[in-house]
Amino acid sequence: MFASVIIDQDTKALNKVFNYLIPDGMKIEKGFRVIVPFGQRLVQGFVVEVNEKIDFDLSKIKQISSTLDDEPIIKSEMLELMKFMCNKFHLRLTSVLRLFVPSEIREGKVKDLFVKWASLNGEIDIQSFSRANVQKSIIEELIKKQKVLLAELKKNFSVSSVNSLIKKEIIKIELEKQIRKPLTIIQQDKKIELNDMQKNAIRSVKGEGTYLLHGVTGSGKTEVYMNLISNALKNKKNAIMLVPEISLTPQVMSVFKARFGENIALLHSSLSAGERFDEWKRIFSGDARVVVGARSAIFAPIDNLGIIIIDEQHEQSYISESNPRYDTFEVAKFRAEFNKCPLLVGSATPSVDIYEKTKTGEVKLIEMPTRANGKELPKIQIIDMMNELRTGNSGIFSTQLIADLSYVVNQKKQAMIFINRRGFSSFMMCRECGYLAKCSDCDVNLVYHREDNRLKCHYCGKQYRVLDKCPNCGSNKIKQGAVGTEKIVDELKNIFKDVKIIRMDNDTTSKKNGHEKILQEFRKSKPAILVGTQMIAKGHDFEDVTLVGIIDADQSLYRGDYRSTERCFQLITQVSGRAGRSQYEGKVDLQTYSPRHYVYKFAANYDYKGFFKKEENIRKTSVFPPFSKIIRILFAYYDENVVRDELKICYNKLLKVREKYFDSIIYMDAMKSPIKRIKNSFRYQIIVRIKLDNSDEIENEIFNCTEGNLKSSVFFEVNPESMS
Ligand code: ADP
Ligand code: ZN
Ligand code: ZN
Repeated sequence: MFASVIIDQDTKALNKVFNYLIPDGMKIEKGFRVIVPFGQRLVQGFVVEVNEKIDFDLSKIKQISSTLDDEPIIKSEMLELMKFMCNKFHLRLTSVLRLFVPSEIREGKVKDLFVKWASLNGEIDIQSFSRANVQKSIIEELIKKQKVLLAELKKNFSVSSVNSLIKKEIIKIELEKQIRKPLTIIQQDKKIELNDMQKNAIRSVKGEGTYLLHGVTGSGKTEVYMNLISNALKNKKNAIMLVPEISLTPQVMSVFKARFGENIALLHSSLSAGERFDEWKRIFSGDARVVVGARSAIFAPIDNLGIIIIDEQHEQSYISESNPRYDTFEVAKFRAEFNKCPLLVGSATPSVDIYEKTKTGEVKLIEMPTRANGKELPKIQIIDMMNELRTGNSGIFSTQLIADLSYVVNQKKQAMIFINRRGFSSFMMCRECGYLAKCSDCDVNLVYHREDNRLKCHYCGKQYRVLDKCPNCGSNKIKQGAVGTEKIVDELKNIFKDVKIIRMDNDTTSKKNGHEKILQEFRKSKPAILVGTQMIAKGHDFEDVTLVGIIDADQSLYRGDYRSTERCFQLITQVSGRAGRSQYEGKVDLQTYSPRHYVYKFAANYDYKGFFKKEENIRKTSVFPPFSKIIRILFAYYDENVVRDELKICYNKLLKVREKYFDSIIYMDAMKSPIKRIKNSFRYQIIVRIKLDNSDEIENEIFNCTEGNLKSSVFFEVNPESMS
């Protein structure tokens, strides 16, 4: 028998399968990990196929040395998925396989956790201890409790006495496996009577296919998801549910834990290595039947799926931007088709891309247009900041927002203030000569962080001393640019002296369970104001939030790519959705310098369909996705000449592709990237826009032009989330 093996080393040269002979008597199946001779060394590999015959020179074939598993660690569904992903996203076999088996399992560094229990080794005659001493008390303790954690025993009595009792074999030690469980707060499971809208949604998801649940914020989508998962479990099937970011999971998790108990496994990036190891094994063994997690949970080793759910479908975090690059939706779709189960994606603001698919029938649309609590969506008031300037208010907050905040505070309720920037200000600049503080390794402005009084690069994390005078001209007139979260908190503290003001951004949530702690603190403080970045826009459900303030909504509008209006609409709707979720009415103050932009008109009326129509029209006329495909090929390397040369070679090959498909290629150009340097690497890019007919074929030909022995790192992206 022969095995086809993929070597577990992520290099281009090894991106193929190698044949090995299976020694007689060695049990090997598809999906096993094996150790094989490779060149002069022994390396790890994955068996992807077992064959009786192969077309190979048998005198040259080597034997498998040993196996690491006694059951397949990669199931056959995942081997099919591997082929699909390599093909669809131009990935290497090994990089995909590594997504399926977390490093904790693969590298063997993390082990099962065992705890030691102490108990008496058979009957013991307590009378034989004539006088009271430590050993006697230890034995009495063990008679009373039967079994005590060894560590506890040593802590409560004396280490040497315990050790000597072990030596005399009076105490015996037993190992017991302990499962490391991620911490979650468990709430009461609310008994909720489904409304007709929800019942209809649940009924509509039947059979294979992709479904879009378009439900306004607070329409009760979570309850729909949970019921569908319950139904799957009742049918002896399993489920995966994805949520965008970790800030969401504490709440989602506690709701799910309350409903599904031990059936749930949790997979996300802030688990400890041990927790991830144990959760993965609970899923693998079938002990956990519902997986809830961020993007990578789509690779959970769970079979017999009855449903896959992606919550907050529009979120960018479902696109993996770093290598290996993939689109979670496509992976989920593959798994749903493989398992012949429905894929349900839900959002209050579906991406233009997926909504377009509901028109062609590729995706079935389910709508929940009203809130579950029967209340109206919060009223959005557009505040013209130019007008504030004209009337002499040059501050960050409009008069209206301050008035509304005061009202909330007096009512002992809560408010959220959304701002798209963390830190104190977005740049530091010399007023005299225009000098701008920049990162020495990246072509970006440094951001001032007051908390630790540092300038930080948000691209590479490098930190700098703050400027007290200009390094260029010596002037001490240093100006701070647009404001960030820290600055807002500062100003609010000045205005509302006794009110709890909490900040939530990447800086305050970087510690383990950081999000959870901040949200807990906010939940119990009234009145309180939570100031934050995108993080606060996510599905939080706080009953007492009655006001949302959006500072500088235009920020996301002028990012300069085709999706910026869509992003702006999504952001406003999502942030607004945090207000008025219980019996209290909510309001939103939206500050902007371009109050007449169409995005604000549609957003203020919660008119998704109107917005979609307008946006669809614009994209159709200008031939942008979803009516075309944009490909970006990014080259990065520390030597600028090398990047430029290699880019040129690629571009010349592309010219031939353009000739061949002249009618299908709308645009093609090479340029410096908007951010010319990151972490000391120079960045150049080629952008190609192609029509949709035979776009897969063209995409492949374009991809082939990037192959070759290059020094630069090359990133190939389709419809990239960011063009910078
Ligand atoms: P969404 O995810 O659509 O924004 P949620 O699922 O968070 O909305 O639900 C919003 C609120 O409505 C939650 O507090 C939830 O408990 C409540 N809710 C959901 N369904 C019902 C229902 N049928 N009746 C009353 N309240 C409901
Ligand atoms: Zn200067
Ligand atoms: Zn930097």
